[in-house]
This record gives sequence, structure tokens and C-alpha cells, in this order.
Amino acid sequence: MSKSVIIIGCGIAGPVLAMLLKHKGFDPVIYERHTEIQSAGLILGVSPQTLKVLNILGLAEGAIALGHQVQQLVTRSQLTQEILGSRDVSPISQKLGWPMVLVVKRTLYCQYLYDSAVGRGIPVYFGKKVVGVDESGDRVSAVFEDGTSAEGDLLVGCDGLHSAVRNALFGKEDPRYMGLVQIGGFSPTPESLRNDSKPTGFQIYGDGAHFIGMPVSDTEMVWATTLPSPNEAKEDWQRRSPEETRDMINGLPVSRWENGVEEVIRGTTFITRYGLYDRPVLDTWHKGRSVLVGDAAHPTSPHMGQGANQALEDCYHLVRLLCKSPNLHTSDRLTSSDIETALTQYEHLRIDIVKKTVALAAEEGNRRVISGRKACEERDEMLRNGGGSNPERLKLQMELIQGPFVGESEI
Ligand SMILES: Cc1cc2nc3c(=O)[nH]c(=O)nc-3n(C[C@H](O)[C@H](O)[C@H](O)COP(=O)(O)OP(=O)(O)OC[C@H]3O[C@@H](n4cnc5c(N)ncnc54)[C@H](O)[C@@H]3O)c2cc1C
Repeated sequence: MSKSVIIIGCGIAGPVLAMLLKHKGFDPVIYERHTEIQSAGLILGVSPQTLKVLNILGLAEGAIALGHQVQQLVTRSQLTQEILGSRDVSPISQKLGWPMVLVVKRTLYCQYLYDSAVGRGIPVYFGKKVVGVDESGDRVSAVFEDGTSAEGDLLVGCDGLHSAVRNALFGKEDPRYMGLVQIGGFSPTPESLRNDSKPTGFQIYGDGAHFIGMPVSDTEMVWATTLPSPNEAKEDWQRRSPEETRDMINGLPVSRWENGVEEVIRGTTFITRYGLYDRPVLDTWHKGRSVLVGDAAHPTSPHMGQGANQALEDCYHLVRLLCKSPNLHTSDRLTSSDIETALTQYEHLRIDIVKKTVALAAEEGNRRVISGRKACEERDEMLRNGGGSNPERLKLQMELIQGPFVGESEI
């Protein structure tokens, strides 16, 4: 008999978790609410922590080929136009053996992970929206909106920000709107911002607005501006119509900014607007035979570039700990005691670091929209003196980039 794992959600965490489980002899099945892989969203910043996990599956090189490696990050002040900081990330990439900043279009990345999972024989069922979770005896079931259900030894909610699994386990609670929206898109890279020998990402801090631009290829870039907004905006990440695009662009404070920004914004070919949300990080992520992974457990604002990276660290540790189960090789199924031990260890290992990351991302978001000349000058001064990075923050960033293991993978 097999050790069956029901995975809810085929975004980023779902297919990777399924492949790691399959790699170790488990029997995963994925259920996704949409009818196909979504073509939505902008980019994900893939860091060495993710590439280390993908490498276990032989997928790191393929991911690198999909993306564009950024080698330099430049920070500028919109108030004074001065460069507040510039960082060459190549030495860190060389030291870690993986690109430090890899910019990948989310749609391509999702499709790649999905195709890889299917290629390894993992069943993926679309149009399966989970509405509940039932546990009875030594089995757990996902209950779908269409009236069907699926049963297994373990159920993992990889179902993102609005996780239905989380709501079923711990009660319904809405995501927390952070009072910020981002508007972003893809544009041809203006000549003035091309740097083929050293692909450069840049961000500009202004009064009440922030702009970030990253190359996604030699000729195309992704951009996003963060703005305060009392009105909530959905985070559906969908492409907007040409009329909406024109209206959004015209209304943006950054559409008149110097240093190539105006040109980038005018050239936009795809635009989306999304509110930023997180949720309090819960003190436990599991109940019985069900557990949360990725955004379902710890959605974060995107300012630390850690959402998708942390999700894969979760996957690594969850599978590693399940593989250590004392009864794994003597029992046909995952036993309740093995599950309880693995899930408890998993959340103990992950909760503290994830809490710090989510808090730092929120802090960075607030810094991006500081308004008023004096406050902005103080913020710029802090960035000029090393990015306002206190030792704890730097230590955490280095710890995160190292990923879930140093040296050989344990799975
Ligand atoms: C469409 C989309 C676009 C995004 N674009 C960006 C971006 O441009 N930049 C960025 O930094 N972050 C983006 N994010 C967020 C980012 O992908 C996540 O922070 C990160 O990848 C964590 O991955 P995850 O697998 O935990 O969650 P997600 O990648 O969000 O995947 C969750 C999956 O679960 C599915 N799902 C949800 N509810 C149910 C249900 N009830 N039943 C079954 N399936 C369900 C969803 O359809 C989705 O496929 C986007 C998320 C989505 C959903």
C-alpha cells in the first residue's frame, strides 16, 4: 500500500512538494481549483535557497535558463537623484555557487514546475476547489466544491493567500490588507538602462512612492511601483485592458520620474495592479493529518522577495522530516504518530524565521512609501549609510539565502 499525500494547489509549492515526495517514494496527487495553469502575475525573484531545492530534482539548471541573472543592484533617491547605494552581487553568487538574484517570469516558472511534475507521473486534477477538510480514523479527506472528495494519509494545503485548508483547520479569517498597492508591468528596456555586461536592477525611493525595475532579458524589464492606498485592491494579478493600462499609467506619480523611469512606464506592454496582503503567522501550522505550506501558512508582502523562496524551504523540510519517520519503512501507511512528530518538528523549525521575514518585508514596504520631505531625507540618509540594515537584518538575509541546507541535501 502507498503513502498517499493530497496536495491542494498547483502554484509554486504544490508541484515542487509533490516532486520531492515522489522522489522519496511517497504517492502525491495535486488538486487545483483553476481549470489550467494561470497566466498571471509578473516575476519571482528566485534565490539560491530555491535553486538548491530544485537541484535535488535536477530542475535548477532549467529554472536558471528560464530567467535572467541580475549582477548589480543600484538604489537611488528621487529627491536628490543621487545614488544611495550600489551592490555587486556576483561575489555572493560565486561563493554560494548559484545566482544570487534570478528574475523569472512567474507564468513561465509555474508552467515549468507543472510540466516537470506531470512528466514525473504526478496526477494533477484541475477544477477541484477545496471547500473543506475531514478527518476520520487514520485518513484525511479534501472535500471539493463539486461534491467529490479525495482521501489520503496526509493533506497539505499549498493553496496560497486565501487558503481554504487554513480556514478549514483554524477558522475563517480574512487576509490583512497592508494599505499598499503595487502597479507593475513589463516594458522594453530603454537604451539608457541597458547594461549587457552587468545586468542591473535598480530601485528609486521617492516621496510617497517607490519604483523598482529589474531586467527579465537583455531587452525587456519588469517594473513595479509601491503606493499607499486606503482602498483595498484585489490581488488577482490579472492583465488589465489597454484602456485601464492607459489610465493607470497616466495617474502614476512615477510616470514623470527621471533616469529612464518615464520611458519604462510609457513602454508598458502588460500591466497589473494588486493590493498587498499578509496574514498573522499562526503558532501552529498543522492539525491532525493536515498541514500548511508556503503562502497558506505565511503569506507575505513581496518586499523581501521571499514568498516563493520560503515556500520551497517549507517543502524541503517537510519532506526531510517525513523521511525520518521511525515507522516509514515498516508500515504500509503514514502512521498518526509519525505524522504528528514530523509536522511538529516542521513548524518548530520554520515558524520563527518566517515570522521575522514577514515582519521585515512589512517594514520595508512602509519605508518605500514614507512621505514628507524631512522623513524622506532621514530615510535616504539611512539608505546612504548601508540600507538601514541592522546586523540582525543582514544576518537573517544571509541565513535565508543559504537555504535549507549547507553542503549535501539530506533528502
Ligand atoms: C496568479 C498569481 C500570481 C502571482 N504573481 C506574483 C508575482 O508576480 N510576484 C510575486 O512576488 N508573487 C506573486 N504571487 C504570489 C506568489 O506566487 C506566492 O507568494 C509564492 O509563490 C508562494 O507560493 P504558494 O505555492 O504557496 O502559493 P501560490 O503560488 O499562490 O499558489 C496557490 C495555488 O493554490 C490554488 N488554490 C487556491 N485556493 C484553492 C482551493 N480552494 N482549492 C484548490 N486550489 C486552490 C491557487 O489557484 C494557486 O494555484 C502570485 C500568486 C498568484 C496566485
